[in-house]
Amino acid sequence: MKQDNSMATGRAALRVPTQVAALIDGEPQWGGEVLPVLDPYTGESVAEIHESSAATVAAAVASAEQAFRTGPWPQLAVEERQQVLRRVADLIERDAAALAALECLNTGIPLRQLEVGQIRRSAYNFRFFADYLGQAAGEAWYQTPGVTTYVRRRPAGVAALIGPWNAPLALTSMKVAAALAFGNTCVVKPSEQTPLTAWRLCELLQEAGVPAGTVNLVQGRGTTTGAALVADPRIARLSFTGGTATGRRVMAAAAQSLVPATLELGGKSANLVFADADLEQALDAALLGIYSNNGQQCLAGARLLVERRIAGDFLAAFAERAGRLQLGDPFEAATDLGPVGSVAHRDRIQRQVRGALADGCQLLVGGPETVVPSQGSFVAPTALQAPSMSLPICQEEVFGPVATVMTFDTLDEACQLAADSRFGLVAYAWTRNVDTLSRLENELRVGTLWQNLTVTRELRAPFGGFGDSGTGREGGRACEAFYTAETTISRATGPRPPLRRLGLR
Ligand code: NAP
Repeated sequence: MKQDNSMATGRAALRVPTQVAALIDGEPQWGGEVLPVLDPYTGESVAEIHESSAATVAAAVASAEQAFRTGPWPQLAVEERQQVLRRVADLIERDAAALAALECLNTGIPLRQLEVGQIRRSAYNFRFFADYLGQAAGEAWYQTPGVTTYVRRRPAGVAALIGPWNAPLALTSMKVAAALAFGNTCVVKPSEQTPLTAWRLCELLQEAGVPAGTVNLVQGRGTTTGAALVADPRIARLSFTGGTATGRRVMAAAAQSLVPATLELGGKSANLVFADADLEQALDAALLGIYSNNGQQCLAGARLLVERRIAGDFLAAFAERAGRLQLGDPFEAATDLGPVGSVAHRDRIQRQVRGALADGCQLLVGGPETVVPSQGSFVAPTALQAPSMSLPICQEEVFGPVATVMTFDTLDEACQLAADSRFGLVAYAWTRNVDTLSRLENELRVGTLWQNLTVTRELRAPFGGFGDSGTGREGGRACEAFYTAETTISRATGPRPPLRRLGLR
């Protein structure tokens, strides 16, 4: 496999793997239907993907199963596994510029955001799980005289890891790092829209010393490759990040083989701004919350709720600054928003916004008629004042740079509006009042509540959602529980009362 030690940055750092395919036992599997991989900024094909058939998926699972049974990965000493995981982190850092450029090309996410965000996070994921592994301790009980009970946690087996297109490397690396740390082998399926950095990651895993067959890659559409993977009965764990409708299908497949599944799904998160907040920070955060990552974040603060007595000035400033965001080439340092994931996705977003306008929403900024760069799938940063939380635009995930805005007068009303969603991924609250924060903490059924903070992912803590935002959690201990299989051992360790003696009468 090639090394990329280039010191170049930006477009100059691009090394595009123009053909990608499944990797089984470290070997590319060419053949199968060939699909284009697009640059959402130019609309041009930058690579080709050789889609994995059901037979290729089965071979990938077989390879991971064989690697699980015969090792060496699951049998390695903790220190050896840690060493390899740390080497992966070092290699991601070595190739950070090339990885950022590749992700930028394939997703349209501004390079600047990728460099300081997702790429660093991808390296940290490996380092975090290496460190966690060194500190993980077990459970034991000695309360019953003469008996010691302890829990053995063993690697679970073959993990199927499926990710979406909005943060491909950051999300895939989290899943791979966690599955590997606890001694599993795996089969990774990135979105067929964004397969390029997962391919590179597999090269780096190999270079770092992850044995062949430990991480296998399959490529292709969800309906073909993904469906074949989740239906394979040899899968021991299924970790899925994607949309809610797909999550339901994946869970149904997992139910067939009773496989534990973690589903990290969509969101429609509330961002509550109270009058007593640090309004300058709250404004910065509200803009970042909906317009970062081209608005394509599961944890976007997509429902902005503002206390009425400050709403006039706050929303005027929000709209003014949103209107000034720079749309354009995601490789340019000045670009705030690149194109959304695809033309089809842009059209879906614009249909949702038009529907909202027909439902009586008022545009505060943006909208489908706003002039945007003519090439690429751009959506102008948009905010819509909504008359009711029951409208589809307030209830459905847009997954683009579109915020809905409502105002409230009382804390009761704020709680009611925030809670009025079938999703429950995260919420943001901006206030200096501790009682208000406590009340929100009690009332909101969300996986994470950020109080006077923007996205601050604490990897030691569980992350996941309620309701349509999914089930299961990712994070240090949560991943240890998920990626290991527990056996409880109870052993006689001292004198025990005599047993009831059967068959002596
Ligand atoms: P998606 O359409 O649900 O796809 C997610 C992944 O599942 C892709 O790799 C997809 O493959 C695959 N897939 C599709 N159908 C499948 C099936 N029947 N069986 C197995 N796999 C299948 O989601 P997306 O549009 O890529 O991503 C956007 C969604 O992800 C949003 O809803 C967002 O909120 C959510 N998300 C959640 C989190 C979180 O942590 N909660 C984080 C990021 C994103 P193809 O794409 O190749 O078809």
